[in-house]
Amino acid sequence: MRPSIDRLKRDMEELSLIGRNDEGGIDRAALSPANVEARSMVMGIMDELGLSIMVDAVGNIRGRKPGRNPSAPAVMTGSHLDSVPNGGNFDGPLGVLTPLEALRTMKDAGIEMEHPIEVVVFTGEEGSRFGKGTLGSSVMSGGLDIEEAYKLVDAQGITLQKALDAVEVRGKPQDVVLESEAVKSFVELHIEQGAKLEEAGIPIGIVEVISGLACFRVTATGRADHAGATPMNMRLDPLVAAAEMILAINRIAREDASGTLVATVGKLTVQPGAFNVVPAEVVFGIDVRDPSREVMGRAINEIKAAINRIASAHGVKVEVEELEKVMPTPLSPTIIETIAGSCDKLGIKAMRMYSGAIHDTSHMAEVTQAGMVFVPSAGGKSHSPLEFTPWEKIAVGLDVLFDVLLTLAGQVSR
Ligand SMILES: [Zn+2]
Repeated sequence: MRPSIDRLKRDMEELSLIGRNDEGGIDRAALSPANVEARSMVMGIMDELGLSIMVDAVGNIRGRKPGRNPSAPAVMTGSHLDSVPNGGNFDGPLGVLTPLEALRTMKDAGIEMEHPIEVVVFTGEEGSRFGKGTLGSSVMSGGLDIEEAYKLVDAQGITLQKALDAVEVRGKPQDVVLESEAVKSFVELHIEQGAKLEEAGIPIGIVEVISGLACFRVTATGRADHAGATPMNMRLDPLVAAAEMILAINRIAREDASGTLVATVGKLTVQPGAFNVVPAEVVFGIDVRDPSREVMGRAINEIKAAINRIASAHGVKVEVEELEKVMPTPLSPTIIETIAGSCDKLGIKAMRMYSGAIHDTSHMAEVTQAGMVFVPSAGGKSHSPLEFTPWEKIAVGLDVLFDVLLTLAGQVSR
């Protein structure tokens, strides 16, 4: 008995038509009409499979197959259905539809499990609509208070609370946080979103740690002056200082001994922003990531020191504010070994690796023993219409996840 890649492909292709734009990309922002339609399609499948469906107060969907022991903690698995603007159809949906195909196979074969299995669809994993990602899992794990989450607003000024009106039936806010005694484990299947598996020619990645992430806002303040009348030696130009800071940040990451550290400046604004005025103020954002706490800590210190040194050399004032900091998340050795065991049993090659991107698993790891399975991304592309994983490679991920779920939930022998 094996799960069917053909049925999974059919479901993935049906889902890919929802929110598809003219470029072939996916526009399924959290709680947008297209996202709600995708959620309905998935709830339809859950319904066909006879799962009991519960939607919590932040819109997370939980489809549950009961276990033989109804009071046993649940084995949870799942991912997200929202996308970045002009994104792909594999980032998220694969981790929702693959476990549903696994449950369909169990149903067809009449397989009973000791533990309940729950497939979760997390609300708003991508931060593109509400400015903060992994919303549903942050709230479910208790890391983000639901009342705080409700106040988040999108670019149109719509609050998350208002946007949730698109989801008609929801649970109570006081029930949204998952009790850790109710969960045995969590596992998420996801595309790698990088090219390491493809380059190594290995079909499965077993994630050992999810990179940490720190975001800073830097404000450098100088003095606006006339671009014609002010000699070069009389200026306090924060943009020239910022340029040196950005080069220093890039150098710190490139030359770090870890070989894993990444640091990015992806946004910068200049005031007053005129050709003929020496800038008065520059604001830019830094995103720093690494799978090691020690490397993250060291990099942040080096970056801050470089910024201060450069600011004083240019005589500009500088302020560095920390906007977000998620420390690297080591995943459960038990789940890592379970996934490795399934790969061995199935004769599938697997590689241990880290995830450079944050996932809902980062938060689920705070509640229960958690793990992630990666399948290759063609050309390492993701968050793009070019995002793709060949079906024969998805089939390998499906076989692995199916076996992992049977192992974790305890197949009842008949
Ligand atoms: Zn994702």
